[in-house]
Amino acid sequence: MTPAPARVTTAATLLLNATYEPLCVVSSRRAIVLVLAEKAESVDTAAEVVHSESVSLPVPVVVRLTRYVRVPYPAQVPLSRRAVFTRDGSACVYCGSSATSIDHVVPRSRGGTHTWDNVVAACRRCNHTKADRSLAELGWKLPHPPRTPSGAAWRLLGARTVDPRWREWLGMPETVSA
Ligand SMILES: [Zn+2]
Repeated sequence: MTPAPARVTTAATLLLNATYEPLCVVSSRRAIVLVLAEKAESVDTAAEVVHSESVSLPVPVVVRLTRYVRVPYPAQVPLSRRAVFTRDGSACVYCGSSATSIDHVVPRSRGGTHTWDNVVAACRRCNHTKADRSLAELGWKLPHPPRTPSGAAWRLLGARTVDPRWREWLGMPETVSA
């Protein structure tokens, strides 16, 4: 057995199925072990190189399994603050600056639900300004209606931060910059 490499700066690696479908996020250490065992191949790598006793290997950012595995997925993406931030690119949907909170589009005090189609990422200022008012009262508009995330990529990323280098494999839009 190849001994696991000592230190890796890239903490996490996206693991793809043999079909290139995203499966899960593993530690880079785990990904290196898979590549060295020829159970996976590197698809995208970081600049850092990791050295073991016999080989030097660029740290994998994305790896693909050499053999297909069948994985059942849960039906729904759990609604969490981090998942909403991931969906909305960590940007306030109203002004585009850095999001710090979750806003209920229809305020909860007015019967708005805590569901995917009524929550958005918002900055402190917009959230504070909006308070218990509706968008119509403020004359604000949403760039697009909030949607329930779907697909394997979303199911696995529900509660994680996203390495920008994974986004093309996850079918996710680029992060909106302020
Ligand atoms: Zn804002």
